[in-house]
Amino acid sequence: MASIFTKIINGEIPCQKILEDEQYFSFLDINPINPGHTLVIPKQETDYLFALDDNILSGLFLFAKKIVPAIEQVISCKRVGVIVAGLEVPHAHVHLIPMGAEGELTFDRAQRANPQDLAALAQKIIQHLK
Ligand code: AMP
Repeated sequence: MASIFTKIINGEIPCQKILEDEQYFSFLDINPINPGHTLVIPKQETDYLFALDDNILSGLFLFAKKIVPAIEQVISCKRVGVIVAGLEVPHAHVHLIPMGAEGELTFDRAQRANPQDLAALAQKIIQHLK
């Protein structure tokens, strides 16, 4: 059965998309740890990030690198931190989380976002993509 993220890629489940290319896809997390919390995923459905082919894994971080400056321009933060967990969704992904302090990088802070706020934020981030 397709993962929830494959369904998002295929448009079967809505998302606030940030960026897409042939191999990768990015969208806002619906339960952000901080505003601007973004997920980047390979379109290839593989459960474990470190089981990805070398070129897909390295390309995922280069894809993330295109998005981080746009997040930083929209969300006031010290930097964008990264979490790799994957215990909830078995489709490799990296969490990009704008942060002001290291203690903020915890799922204990995750809260369901207001859909309108998420949509507005996605539009702002997209406008800052180069
Ligand atoms: P994990 O697998 O623990 O790394 O976390 C999976 C992440 O996916 C969580 O932060 C969820 O909030 C997020 N998530 C699950 N379903 C959706 C969805 N439909 N749209 C956006 N984010 C989602």
